[in-house]
Amino acid sequence: MRGAHFARKLLEHEHAAVFAAPPRCGRCKGAEIEIRRRQNGTWVWRCYAPACKTTPKGGTNAWTQNIRLGRVR
Ligand SMILES: [Zn+2]
Repeated sequence: MRGAHFARKLLEHEHAAVFAAPPRCGRCKGAEIEIRRRQNGTWVWRCYAPACKTTPKGGTNAWTQNIRLGRVR
């Protein structure tokens, strides 16, 4: 029980480290990146720079990238 708890804590710690180091936006190269979670539980980086996520037609099409989290070994 304690081992499982520790493993889970470690995983959370690893996630924290990943979440603390967002990548640059793949489209505008900006650093205005936020974390979102999809309905299916997948974590994604999302650029929220207005000039980047807004399409010429006035819609929203933000850049996103799945966040790759480490596997439990
Ligand atoms: Zn962007």
